[in-house]
Amino acid sequence: MMTFPQRLIDGYTAFLSDRLPVEQSRFRELAETGQHPETMVIGCCDSRVSPEVIFDARPGELFVARNVANLVPPYTPDGATRAISAALEFAVQALKVKHIVVLGHAQCGGIRAFAEHAAPLSPGDFIGHWIALIAPAAEAAGPRGETPLADYLTRLEQASVVTTLDNLMTFPCIKILVERGRLALHGAYFGVATGELSVLDRESGEFVPVAGEAHANAFAAPRF
Ligand SMILES: [Zn+2]
Repeated sequence: MMTFPQRLIDGYTAFLSDRLPVEQSRFRELAETGQHPETMVIGCCDSRVSPEVIFDARPGELFVARNVANLVPPYTPDGATRAISAALEFAVQALKVKHIVVLGHAQCGGIRAFAEHAAPLSPGDFIGHWIALIAPAAEAAGPRGETPLADYLTRLEQASVVTTLDNLMTFPCIKILVERGRLALHGAYFGVATGELSVLDRESGEFVPVAGEAHANAFAAPRF
């Protein structure tokens, strides 16, 4: 029988000595009063793209739902069990978050699998069925043509964020709140290699780096 991973025990031990003493009162308060995060993040399962790490979030600050390729299917009230729909419903109706951030990223395996028509990994082809949701984004991104694969994948990753934002607006509870100005939807994109975060400018349709100066400074001088 496999034992519980030692890496996790070591990490938990570090958490007990470093972070818990700092956060303990906050954890207690959150336990008593409940969570009140203002932001929901829809991110990818990718282990390199942890929203809490990227946004330096403390306990209780981010309500996070992660799935392969950070997708949301269009509103489909057919009774099917969809984890993301349940998370959205809770975030919007119960927690009343003010922001939903769809966080795409570079080198997304889900996006790449779609672009390369990857073969099913199992008879169920769960990934294939799920990433079929990327098709409208691929249409919006246009044909690859002579574009190098890496550039095309970036285009598709970013187009998919836009499609997911459009899909979010098909949920009546989200559409109403956005129209009343009580909920804002945002697209963001994380460069895994560069650590650069870009945010979608809805007017130009471009992803624009945020905190560009701070990002440049972080790389300006080697620190060790
Ligand atoms: Zn991904």
